[in-house]
Amino acid sequence: MFSPEPTLQTSARPSVDLHCHSTASDGTCRPAEVVRLAHAAGLSGLALTDHDTVAGLPEAAAEARRLGVDFLTGIEVSAAYPRPGTMHLLGYGFDPQAVSFRKLARRLALARAERAALIVERLNRAGVDVSLAEVHAEAGGPDANVGRPHVAAALVRKGHAVSTRDAFTRYLGGGGAAYVDTNPLDSAQVIDGVRRAGGMVSLAHPLQLRRRDFAQLEAQVRELAEQGMEGLETVHSGHDTETVGRLTRLADRLGLMPTGGSDFHGANKPWIRLGEAGRRVIPREWFDAVRERTGARKAEREHAPAVLNEHAGI
Ligand code: AMP
Ligand code: ZN
Ligand code: FE
Ligand code: FE
Repeated sequence: MFSPEPTLQTSARPSVDLHCHSTASDGTCRPAEVVRLAHAAGLSGLALTDHDTVAGLPEAAAEARRLGVDFLTGIEVSAAYPRPGTMHLLGYGFDPQAVSFRKLARRLALARAERAALIVERLNRAGVDVSLAEVHAEAGGPDANVGRPHVAAALVRKGHAVSTRDAFTRYLGGGGAAYVDTNPLDSAQVIDGVRRAGGMVSLAHPLQLRRRDFAQLEAQVRELAEQGMEGLETVHSGHDTETVGRLTRLADRLGLMPTGGSDFHGANKPWIRLGEAGRRVIPREWFDAVRERTGARKAEREHAPAVLNEHAGI
């Protein structure tokens, strides 16, 4: 049950969302629609964080400019991590055109394409008639970023499963006949790639690491911080009040910036509304802190060649 927390609609300060998905990955709203929803909900800042892709950012950024919503580049990268846990790293404020980032994005795109083919192969071997083309159609085309929800949609459409949940249980989830979970990059590589592109990284929904207890979780977060991670997602739709409290104290102890978001996926998770995480909202200050941290870093990077030239001239 929800505790009567005084969060929604009690603050006159504008709030933001730092975790949401569009049709560029497994959300159901186009990037521009997500921004329009944010604007309509009264949010003053947004980061679009599609799974393993930045394909939605240009469209979202343009709409944000048009509507006067402050916008940060974002991505949610699945890093290599042992089952049954998952490690999702949120990148913010990076330059998508930076060489380090483009390398990272290419690796992710390739791995997703290979995984989609492998899943279909395993489904076929298990006697399930579905093609890669049918999966691509659910994802929005042959070059689309394929997530398991798209495969699930194809299975439901073809009558092989009665629902997304059913498709995951029988085929796509851990232990399913066509479970493939190959994430090509480890956390250090993701953090390095994002930071070198001027951005920062925060650990999404930390409980999904599925550590045995909070001490184990803390050890894992500490290791990520040592690798250069700077944020911790303390507020998320899946966090109850106790979890928010524990994660907030952990962030404090480790000197990590708190981040938060709804993890909005449109109709794929209809109970989640943009800008809301349980009964909480995400404070504007968190957006400003991320922007400040990454903005300063960008300046450093842009100044680097000038400094080099100076030395070269001596
Ligand atoms: P992917 O990034 O391709 O591995 O897909 C992950 C997505 O699948 C996430 O958005 C999850 O919400 C969704 N997902 C994972 N497990 C399940 C499940 N058991 N039922 C429904 N959706 C799931
Ligand atoms: Zn998702
Ligand atoms: Fe996630
Ligand atoms: Fe997410």
